[in-house]
Amino acid sequence: MHIHDSMIDLVGNTPLVRLNRVTQGIQATVLAKVEYFNPGGSVKDRIALRMIEAAEESGALRPGGTIVEPTSGNTGVGLAMVAQQKGYKCVFVCPDKVSTDKINVLRAYGAEVVVCPTAVDPEHPDSYYNVSDRLVREIPDAWKPDQYSNPNNPLSHYHSTGPELWEQTEGRITHFVAGVGTGGTISGTGRYLKEVSDGKVRIIGADPEGSVYSGGSGRPYLVEGVGEDFWPSAYDRTVTDAIVAVSDKDSFQMTRRLAKEEGLLVGGSCGMAVVAALEVAREAGPDDVVVVLLPDSGRGYLSKIFNDEWMNDYGFLDEAGEHPRVGDVL
Ligand code: PMP
Repeated sequence: MHIHDSMIDLVGNTPLVRLNRVTQGIQATVLAKVEYFNPGGSVKDRIALRMIEAAEESGALRPGGTIVEPTSGNTGVGLAMVAQQKGYKCVFVCPDKVSTDKINVLRAYGAEVVVCPTAVDPEHPDSYYNVSDRLVREIPDAWKPDQYSNPNNPLSHYHSTGPELWEQTEGRITHFVAGVGTGGTISGTGRYLKEVSDGKVRIIGADPEGSVYSGGSGRPYLVEGVGEDFWPSAYDRTVTDAIVAVSDKDSFQMTRRLAKEEGLLVGGSCGMAVVAALEVAREAGPDDVVVVLLPDSGRGYLSKIFNDEWMNDYGFLDEAGEHPRVGDVL
């Protein structure tokens, strides 16, 4: 029988797909690593599995224990799915800018979700970092994976995403582009690709304008899951060769194009990463192979990026080629 023992066995080994339309005029091959094929729907299943297994091995997570984590959604889904299969409870702490769609998904997996204000300093007692620390102290047998400082976050990519890309491209990958949130994806995948290629593969981070990685002050932006207002230890700055800053507007318009032109219904950080990848690919030659990682699906953003009214409210829909709204005079 061709069966899998549980959903956990389906984490990783995601497909690599050529981008054909948004790449017009570009000579290099541009390939997308489509992470929504993971069973929890995002790249974060990879880190959830490795962080939990390492905590079981070290004894930090005991049978029947509770996982407490501040997460913008995707890490929560990965942790909730793996936790449920292994018999752990989950409490997640989310900032209030996260879409209700994402929060409802966490609750569907049986997790408890605490929502905190975005507009407070990280040091404030109500910040989502501090609330989660308090919950860890108060809940018996609680364990906090802390994806921002857990070495198993980048290590999961060093051991899975990196080798998969090297194998899938038969060693022909020349550039790797990924959005930077905790920095785990780019640091782990990048380190593996640098090592296996004797430093030849170029590693490029994509970052929302305003975030610290591209020299911003930490001012707000709307793309979810990427950019930071501090430097997490999961991010190894020595791995990235360059960082490309991308605006919310460019990110979301590209996200819509990926659905309409490539059949890829993906999230806003994917559009952001593709804008950066195309910038890199425009400078690359015909033998170059640029791989861009797409972290999640667009299903969690239907009421935002794929909603004309929301896009219009922020002035993101003024380019030619967008379809008219109901009531517009044609
Ligand atoms: N995009 C989305 C939607 C995410 O949830 C994350 C994770 N925060 C990222 C990109 C960035 O990945 P990483 O944390 O590995 O840098």
